[in-house]
Formats: sequence, structure tokens, C-alpha cells
Amino acid sequence: MSADATRRLRLVYAELDRGIASLLRDSGGACRACGRCCTFPTGAPVLYATALEREYLASVPPGDHGPLPNGACPYLDVETKRCTARERRTVGCRTHFCAEAVGDERAREAAHALGERALAEIRRIVSAHGVEWDYAPVVERLAERWGVHYER
Ligand code: SF4
Ligand code: SF4
Repeated sequence: MSADATRRLRLVYAELDRGIASLLRDSGGACRACGRCCTFPTGAPVLYATALEREYLASVPPGDHGPLPNGACPYLDVETKRCTARERRTVGCRTHFCAEAVGDERAREAAHALGERALAEIRRIVSAHGVEWDYAPVVERLAERWGVHYER
């Protein structure tokens, strides 16, 4: 991943974070940082991201750990329930919230719109750098890449 693509992706994330912070302030939502939305058990909705985002996220390996709970993201610290890749997390990570955390439906729609705007900008980065879009499940690809084992 080139330095320019990384720089531009970071700018997209920074702008997205500012927008999300502002709308959550207004909606009165509150995230308890319980980590539930970083676990994707069989049958649950799946987190998707572009190849560019997955590459940036995986540019630092997850910590050494034993088998994870079914569907847990390798970057989730299962003890503290915190993301260990917060600065590199994907658009989907930054825009998906449970009902309690997002506050109200208007904020959920606004967060979705901000995510779409960020993805449009990422599409421009992808085009400029001639890399593939490949919008694919994040956790599945990360688990393959890092050889993660899940508890049965
Ligand atoms: S958004 Fe909701 S499910 Fe996700 S960490 Fe925050 S409180 Fe937990
Ligand atoms: S990268 Fe971080 S925020 Fe995104 S799913 Fe994994 S642990 Fe959660």
C-alpha cells in the first residue's frame, strides 16, 4: 500500500470520525464499549470493507492470543472489549452502532450517509492507485490471514 494511499485513507477516516462524533453528540447516544458489535457469530450481519481498508487494518498483526469466541474480530481484545486497531479500523467499524449507542434513527441514517460518502472517497483512492476494490467480509479474511482459531 503506497504512502499516498495511506495518507489519503487516513484523511478520509479523520473526516468521517469528526462527522460521527458530531452527530453522536447531538443524538445523545452512548457506546458502553462492550465489544459486542466486534463479534460476528454465524448468522449475524457481517462487516464488509474494501481491500484497501483491509490492507491498512492488517498492516500491524493482532496480538498473540488463543482461540477466540465464535466470529470475534482478531483485533478485539476479548478481555478489555476494546479494539486494538482503533486508528486503522474500517468505515464499517466507524459507522455501525447498536441502538443504544447511536441514540436515534435519524443519527443511524446520518451515520450511514457519512459512511457512504467515505466509501465514495475511498473509491477515488482505489481508482487513482489502480488497486482492486474487492469489498469483502473483514473478519473472515483477517482470520484466514492470521490463522485465527475459534472456540467450538
Ligand atoms: S456500539 Fe453498542 S454493541 Fe458496539 S461496543 Fe458500543 S455499546 Fe457495545
Ligand atoms: S477492527 Fe476493531 S472496531 Fe473493527 S471489528 Fe475489529 S475490533 Fe471491532
